[in-house]
Amino acid sequence: MAVPYKHEPFTDFSFEENVQEFKKALNQVKKELGKEYDLVIGGKKVTTEEKIISVNPANISEVVGTVSKASKDLAEKAMQVADKTFQTWKKWDPEVRAEILFKAAAIVRRRKHEFSAYLVYEAGKPWNEADADTAEAIDFLEYYGRQMIELAKGYPVESRKIENNRLSYIPLGVGVVISPWNFAFAIMAGMTSAALVAGNTVLLKPASTTPVVAAKFIEVLEEAGLPAGVVNFIPGSGSEVGDYLVDHPKTRFISFTGSKEVGIRIYERAAKVQEGQIWLKRVVAEMGGKDTIVVDNQADLDLAAESIVKSAFGFSGQKCSACSRAVIHEDVYDDVLEKAIKLTKKLTVGDPIENTSMGPVNDQAAFDKVMSYIDIGKEEGMLVTGGKGDNSKGYFIEPTIFSGVDAHARLMQEEIFGPVVAFCKAKTFDHALEIANNTDYGLTGAVITNNRAHIEKAKQEFYVGNLYFNRGCTGAIVGYHPFGGFNMSGTDSKAGGPDYLLLFTQAKLLSEQL
Ligand code: NAD
Repeated sequence: MAVPYKHEPFTDFSFEENVQEFKKALNQVKKELGKEYDLVIGGKKVTTEEKIISVNPANISEVVGTVSKASKDLAEKAMQVADKTFQTWKKWDPEVRAEILFKAAAIVRRRKHEFSAYLVYEAGKPWNEADADTAEAIDFLEYYGRQMIELAKGYPVESRKIENNRLSYIPLGVGVVISPWNFAFAIMAGMTSAALVAGNTVLLKPASTTPVVAAKFIEVLEEAGLPAGVVNFIPGSGSEVGDYLVDHPKTRFISFTGSKEVGIRIYERAAKVQEGQIWLKRVVAEMGGKDTIVVDNQADLDLAAESIVKSAFGFSGQKCSACSRAVIHEDVYDDVLEKAIKLTKKLTVGDPIENTSMGPVNDQAAFDKVMSYIDIGKEEGMLVTGGKGDNSKGYFIEPTIFSGVDAHARLMQEEIFGPVVAFCKAKTFDHALEIANNTDYGLTGAVITNNRAHIEKAKQEFYVGNLYFNRGCTGAIVGYHPFGGFNMSGTDSKAGGPDYLLLFTQAKLLSEQL
């Protein structure tokens, strides 16, 4: 029997020993950079001519790995294998499926710094962010394994003298898992492991800028004893392989995390019933955010500034939960702004191999997008710190604050996904909540206040999936903070929560007349 779930502790880099261990892993992984990785279909490696080249966003001349790229034909082959494998995998004892996840978690835990080092090189994550990403991947494996063991017991329904009744949860079929690059390990591993532990087979299409860490995870699953064909690894173009599999009549569900635009596209396409399709596809789509920290006039202003700066600039603002709007009561606006600027100026930007506070943004497209929003910001508000970018070696952008931004400005409405935060003044606490709710999104939010009545009001009126008080709005932990948002932030699937696995099952009622 598994011990109770507890989240994987983060590495404390204030200990020199941990620093040395991490440096060792960075050096080791550096020697492995540039390797080739294959597709895996039915347990067999497939090499293609066309490749995805994964580069280090902090050092664009460095290739992290070269990964084979699936075509539609190979995606079709993977679908056939997954469809066939489902017939056997669905009958495996759920407890044994869970044990494979526990074994995979143990393997990753033993190689924790190695995985984090890959995230430093491939995703440009500073050490603590990479370490948290790996810890979260371990957490998902441990947590979903335990959740499956619980779910296998079914939910109680009433029986009576004349009949015995049981409600059980059975898998759906073949699922397409489409993951983002920003939690290149945790979200990819979490979505994949949830789907497979529930008894489904999976076609995994990772993000094109971070396929190497996904390839490493596939190796772990194999080592943990996952049978061939349960998870098939098919990196490829979103628009080619993604569309093909979303449309496929044998696709039973799609588990997607990424942008609002792609999420909507998948949702719309999946709704069309294709010839030969005998079910309605289920879509789990977790999408973008435009997340707000509200600061009240009765609040710890140092805590407010720290929370904003940490949530806005952690991993260069490239979290769906990142604070990109600070809505501050006018009585304390100037003080919080001044404190936030001071903290921001202390942040270092550079190659995360040196354990800087901030690394690069993801790629040239992300760099261009963020810089264009900085230009927009100069029209819409006052640039008070940062604003410069340098893409000569890697995609570096300074942590940037705009002050005096109108509640309806583009900077306050559109997801930038970079190190840019807009400060906006509110007249009252009610006004602050009104501004906080004025976007299409509804993912995370935080309120910094010492006013109990205002906390209660925010609980009712601040319309986001994850609402935090007197802390930042990032850093959800599996099992403690089930994660997912409202409105255009997605289907509120609550990853890392007790009801997440239900999304990958269907309930079957068994009633026997006595
Ligand atoms: P993206 O939408 O560009 O890509 C996500 C995935 O979709 C990638 O694997 C991509 O290749 C694939 N894709 C692209 N076009 C496709 C298509 N036509 N059909 C099928 N798949 C397709 O997102 P991204 O840039 O990788 O990630 C950043 C976004 O993800 C941000 O908007 C962020 O807020 C969001 N995100 C949300 C959450 C959450 O839990 N809500 C978590 C992390 C990231």
